[in-house]
Amino acid sequence: RCGMVSIVGRPNVGKSTLMNHLIGQKVSITSRKPQTTRHRIHGIHTRDHYQIVFADTPGIHTGQERALNRAMNDAAVSTLSGVDVVCMMVDGLKWTPGDEHVLSLLPAKPDVPVLLIINKVDSLEDKAELLPYIESLSARYPFDAVIPVSALKEQNLEQLEKALVERL
Ligand code: GDP
Ligand code: MG
Repeated sequence: RCGMVSIVGRPNVGKSTLMNHLIGQKVSITSRKPQTTRHRIHGIHTRDHYQIVFADTPGIHTGQERALNRAMNDAAVSTLSGVDVVCMMVDGLKWTPGDEHVLSLLPAKPDVPVLLIINKVDSLEDKAELLPYIESLSARYPFDAVIPVSALKEQNLEQLEKALVERL
């Protein structure tokens, strides 16, 4: 199996970290500083039975005033078409206006599976809040699956990978 997966989300949620850890090499620069990823970066993950091409995108910004932001948004939005799976990534339980904006850019009736990846679960104080959070977001958008992970600590990445491969 072979396919393309794009990872979208507001800046700093951990998109580049996820791609690097899934692929097992540092292809995309990560940083605490937003806007580190300015262009689309592709990473190719090859295993015996499948190959996934990831598109790591610049974070989607709400401020459209700066030309750089606009170009970064266009690059992120353009990766929503022509891929096999779209992943929207969020940072733990911290839903922000930036996430709201990303959600508004997703197609209302997606023709490819859209997965919600809840990243940074390693830093969650109360894991019991996770389930109600998943339920509230599932009620707002037809996510095909919701997968909590820690990209940095490599928690639950196997489950994520399995979910991706199943949808290629
Ligand atoms: P991007 O802007 O979405 O590409 O985010 P980055 O991958 O550059 O990560 C932004 C920051 O979040 C960096 O400081 C990462 O080390 C941190 N980060 C990424 N994933 C995790 C995670 O699973 N847990 C924690 N605690 N921090 C993370
Ligand atoms: Mg990045």
